[in-house]
Amino acid sequence: MKDLLQKAKEAMTQSYSPYSGVKVGAALLTKNGKIFLGTNVENAAFGPSCCAERSAFFSAVSQGEREFSAIAIVGGKDGKIADFFPPCGVCRQVMAEFCGADFPIYLENDRGEVKSLTLGELLPHAFTKEKF
Ligand SMILES: [Zn+2]
Repeated sequence: MKDLLQKAKEAMTQSYSPYSGVKVGAALLTKNGKIFLGTNVENAAFGPSCCAERSAFFSAVSQGEREFSAIAIVGGKDGKIADFFPPCGVCRQVMAEFCGADFPIYLENDRGEVKSLTLGELLPHAFTKEKF
């Protein structure tokens, strides 16, 4: 958990966020032990921007990964971690495409406190592929 959070902090340093100044890093652990990093990538048109969590997921899926064990997320204004930085609703939905309700999401604040949540806690009653 701490190792994964450390990787998320490393990913945060790569943030491209000239508009909001908010830097976010994510480290996604696959079932076979690989780690994919993601950061937020903003755009002048705002709409094309992508969150760190989705960057990590899309990178992993692009390389053939489909099964995931956990994700760690940190973030903050100007790259300074303050409070816990939970994923946005869009990223929660992307997680629900590949992960079950028990998927762990690790967050860390500026005091080094770690929060371990599940996708089911953050996205109850998710709309998933089981609906098809
Ligand atoms: Zn997001």
